[in-house]
Amino acid sequence: MTAQTNAAPAMTGETAIEIAKLNKWYGTFHVLRDIDLVVSRGERIVIAGPSGSGKSTLIRCINRLEEHQAGKIIVDGTELTHDLKNIDKVRSEVGMVFQHFNLFPHLTILENCTLAPIWVRKIPKREAEEIAMHFLTKVRIPDQAHKYPGQLSGGQQQRVAIARALCMRPKIMLFDEPTSALDPEMIKEVLDTMIELAEEGMTMLCVTHEMGFAQAVAHRVIFMDQGQIVEQNTPKEFFNNPRSERTKLFLSQIL
Ligand code: ADP
Ligand code: MG
Repeated sequence: MTAQTNAAPAMTGETAIEIAKLNKWYGTFHVLRDIDLVVSRGERIVIAGPSGSGKSTLIRCINRLEEHQAGKIIVDGTELTHDLKNIDKVRSEVGMVFQHFNLFPHLTILENCTLAPIWVRKIPKREAEEIAMHFLTKVRIPDQAHKYPGQLSGGQQQRVAIARALCMRPKIMLFDEPTSALDPEMIKEVLDTMIELAEEGMTMLCVTHEMGFAQAVAHRVIFMDQGQIVEQNTPKEFFNNPRSERTKLFLSQIL
């Protein structure tokens, strides 16, 4: 990891995501409470917090994998409502990487990477394959293109998941605990891939407990507890000078 990463490149000041007074319930359970969050283009945010605090729900709302009931979410100028056109537009601009890779097991690595570009973006197959090979090379596994997910290690599968998301040319990448299902020796290869993306200026929201990554890469760390943003700060301040008791308790448990 380079110490330079969170200094460069600069954020543009343009808004990538605007979330205002977001509230969500699962049945009667109030899972997200008055979330306000503005993300600038090029900004990298790490979301931390105890299990069950609503981190996954929050980022899943950003590409409408979950529906919110109150407040607004605007992604790259498009508000998420019941309008399916808006949902499609936002999904085509937002890539997501999950804890459990979610690759299609019956498709090759190359087919996993070309499926959405061909069927959603309507890119010709040959061109989609070229783009896929470009990103598989970027995540350093071009030689695995014709294998199936089950033949790859967890770290390799997660790098395929990142490449697959990049093939859709997203403006924003969401990561939900991308390394927490991996063996320790594979965590670094996935984090290194994410650091490279960060260095290229990708707007990123990452739910992760990898605090080394947060310190090296994040412009801002957001701490959630019980459906609320309890505290947010630069990584330096967040780790060295936590304000709330809940943050202090959390840090004492993970560091
Ligand atoms: P985190 O990612 O921080 O662990 P989640 O967003 O997954 O938290 O979950 C927040 C809370 O909402 C938890 O109490 C969880 O049990 C609950 N929850 C998550 N998904 C659902 C669902 N589909 N239906 C009902 N409750 C859910
Ligand atoms: Mg989660």
